[in-house]
Amino acid sequence: MHILIIEDEEQLCRSMAEGLRMDGYETDTCFDGEEGLELCMTENYDLILLDLNLPGIDGLEILRQFRTFNTNTPVLILSARVQIQDKVEGLDLGANDYLTKPFHFEELEARIRSLTRRTFIQEDVCLRCSRITFDTRTREASVDGTPLALTRKESALLEYFLLHRNRIISPEEMIEHLWDGSVNSFSNSIRVHISSLRKKLRTALGYDPIQNKIGQGYICLLYTSDAADERSSVDLGGRRIIKKKKIKEQKGNSTQ
Ligand code: CA
Repeated sequence: MHILIIEDEEQLCRSMAEGLRMDGYETDTCFDGEEGLELCMTENYDLILLDLNLPGIDGLEILRQFRTFNTNTPVLILSARVQIQDKVEGLDLGANDYLTKPFHFEELEARIRSLTRRTFIQEDVCLRCSRITFDTRTREASVDGTPLALTRKESALLEYFLLHRNRIISPEEMIEHLWDGSVNSFSNSIRVHISSLRKKLRTALGYDPIQNKIGQGYICLLYTSDAADERSSVDLGGRRIIKKKKIKEQKGNSTQ
C-alpha cells in the first residue's frame, strides 16, 4: 500500500515515513503544500496523511481541490489545530479522519489500518482467503495455520494480491501501490520479488495462485481447499500419465 505524507515538520515527516515503512507501507513524503497538491493530483495513492499548516498551499485548500476530482482515496488530517471548527471544516471538505498533534504512533497505525480496511470493506485486521491468512497488523502470513516466512516486499505483494484477488493487476498499478516514487519501471527486481513469493506459495499451497497474463499483468486466483485438492490430483494424474508415457518410450527405444 502506498501512502503520501504531506507534512512540513521534516523530522516528524521522516520518522512517520520510516515507521510506516517498517509496517510494510510504501511512503512518499513532501514538505510543502504546492508539491503536496501536485503529488496527490498526479499519483494514485491508497491513503494521504495531510498536515494543515503548510508553506505554499494550506492543507484544507489541498483537500478541497483534491476532492473535486478524487472522492475515493482516504485522507487523514494530522494537525496541531485543536479547534472544533477546524475539525468540522476538514471533515466537511471530505477528510475521512482527523488526528490531533501530538499523537502516539500506535494510534496513527490503527487509524491507517481502519481507513485502508474500510476501503476494501474488511471486518478485522486479518485478511482470510481460502487457506491463506494475512494479519495486517503483525504483517504475518500463514497457510493452514503454518507461518509463511516472507520478506517485507513479498508481504506487501501478498497483501495487495489478496485485497485484489480475481482481477488482473497491471505492472503500472503494482508500481503505483507497492513501490515508492523512486521506481518508475517494471524492472527485473520487481519480477524477482513476485517470482520468489510465487515459489513460497506454491510450496505451501501445492499450487501457484498467481498467474502471469502476458501483456496485461498478474492475477491471484485462490481455490477453496476442495477445489485445490481436486486440482492437485489432476496435476498428479497428469504427471503420472506423462511418466508412464516416458517409460514406454524408453522401453520402446531399448527394444529397438
Ligand atoms: Ca505544519
